[in-house]
Amino acid sequence: KGMIVSFGEMLIDFVPTESGVSLAEAPGFLKAPGGAPANVAIAVARLGGKAAFVGKLGDDEFGHMLAGILKQYGVTGEGISFDQGARTALAFVTLRADGEREFMFYRNPSADMLLRPDELNIELIKSAKVFHYGSISLIVEPCRSAHLKAMEVAKEAGALLSYDPNLREPLWPSREEAKKQILSIWDKADVIKVSDVELEFLTGSPKIDDANAMTLWRDSLKLLLVTLGEKGCRYYTKNFRGVVESFEVKAVDTTGAGDSFVGALLAKIVDDHSILEDEKRLREVLKFANACGAVTTTKKGAIPALPNESEALTLY
Ligand code: ATP
Repeated sequence: KGMIVSFGEMLIDFVPTESGVSLAEAPGFLKAPGGAPANVAIAVARLGGKAAFVGKLGDDEFGHMLAGILKQYGVTGEGISFDQGARTALAFVTLRADGEREFMFYRNPSADMLLRPDELNIELIKSAKVFHYGSISLIVEPCRSAHLKAMEVAKEAGALLSYDPNLREPLWPSREEAKKQILSIWDKADVIKVSDVELEFLTGSPKIDDANAMTLWRDSLKLLLVTLGEKGCRYYTKNFRGVVESFEVKAVDTTGAGDSFVGALLAKIVDDHSILEDEKRLREVLKFANACGAVTTTKKGAIPALPNESEALTLY
């Protein structure tokens, strides 16, 4: 099986024990390990794939706890660095009564932002058949340079590049800067997945239709995906496009659904990139990715909700 290397941040979300309260009103918090790139690596491992996480953690109890979680799920930890000075990143997250998600990040700077290019495990990155990343690692140096170098090394070694921007507006200096930097690496990727919210942010238009999605198309791409929550996903390639509907589930927490979707997609294409050129087979893969995303919404938290193959297939 081919290796999927996922690059970026891993952190702890602190989630209130009670829902529908503000951060100030929350009576207590539970630790929920996360960070989209780490979730994707674990999603792949849950489906029986080979995955590695590349990123930096604090040399503290939380950092070693997170490394232990990756190991527990069978994700290769040879790409993890530990920072001697900075702490593991934390985020306090709450779903307020009005349905808005509220984030408060502790990253000033956190260890993930301090990964340096010279710390990269080049051999591991070169072994990737798929190299996956987000955009949070682009926000500040030196992590930004490490991110760009890792992408280059992977691409040169022949990996398929997979990009899920995973917009977190509060982490960027401004909306304009976020848009500019997220789009600055657009034409390097082979596969890009955006959510409906990111489509609107990046295009400036609220229209979730083909014409708007196609403004994000580049001929350098093999596949562009727009996830639509309960409605499934839209796909675009050079030769075909369409929609694959999701499954009906009772969603309790959508955290990690997008990462579960991406992990499933990557696990299914890593050993056969030609699926991206075959609409029938690609639709099968996207149906499975939708199932994985849907199952993930039925349980609280991201990582504990990521399904194995048979759990995803129960929805069929
Ligand atoms: P995240 O919350 O992780 O950032 P996202 O916004 O990137 O997620 P979504 O569009 O919410 O991604 O979900 C990804 C996929 O999971 C969808 O394309 C769909 O297949 C599935 N999914 C998400 N929510 C639901 C739901 N309520 N019912 C059925 N399927 C769902």
